Amino acid sequence: MIEHHILSLSGGKDSTALAFYIKDNMSEIFDRMELVFYDTGCDLEETYDYLNKIEVFLDKKITYVKPQDSFDKILLKTRMIPTVFKRWCTLELKIKPSNEFLKKKVEDEKIDRIKIYVGIRADEQYRKGVQLKSAFEKKYINPVYPFIDNGITKQDVEDILIKSGINYPDYYKWRKRNGCFFCPYQSPYDWVLLYENHPKLFYKAMEYEKIGDVGKKRVFSFNPNLTLKEILKNKDRIKEQEVNKKRKKKNIQKLFNLFIKEVQI
Ligand code: SF4
Repeated sequence: MIEHHILSLSGGKDSTALAFYIKDNMSEIFDRMELVFYDTGCDLEETYDYLNKIEVFLDKKITYVKPQDSFDKILLKTRMIPTVFKRWCTLELKIKPSNEFLKKKVEDEKIDRIKIYVGIRADEQYRKGVQLKSAFEKKYINPVYPFIDNGITKQDVEDILIKSGINYPDYYKWRKRNGCFFCPYQSPYDWVLLYENHPKLFYKAMEYEKIGDVGKKRVFSFNPNLTLKEILKNKDRIKEQEVNKKRKKKNIQKLFNLFIKEVQI
């Protein structure tokens, strides 16, 4: 039986830590394992830098799998901005290329089973793992969760990244999520941070919104409530709201801690 092992890197902390974990604890598998990055072509430069660093630290090449058509090309064709309600981006930029890549691998290399290593941690088992939907997936794909199986938590992931010397990707200094720079899951505050850290990308996303505006009453925007133009105009207010929100959260936590202390006495 020919088995293939794949770890799909997202450019984030968990899948990176998993690669290092497998190298240290499952070295036989690591030697045969293929590291894959499903490349939308729209990630932040910090993500691409981090992937380069991973290759050097692990001394292993990453396979970059790209979609047939770029995001720009699809957008020009459909004039439809991806939103949280119509998330076509994941299907076109990630799922389809991944399915095609895996099918081709099975056919070309006569593979009987592909083990996919997933970085879901032991402290987040509520998360959905790999969903095996199609007949192909049910037949050939076997998801493996080494962190869950071995009780690896968020703290352990941090320890792995620090111990290995790779640390966190640079975008963690200002943003917690990896992914496309125009991801519709960003809050208005996230968009402000994108503007402050990568103004060119922010303006590029603004141009995308113009392409999506096909003369309807409202510009078709990434955020359901605000266009990027409106976010930019209100950036100081958005920042102030975020500071207030954090302050409020901190005060509630303080009160809660006091209450717990009182109850314990
Ligand atoms: S990161 Fe965001 S924009 Fe990119 S494919 Fe995923 S959901 Fe879509």
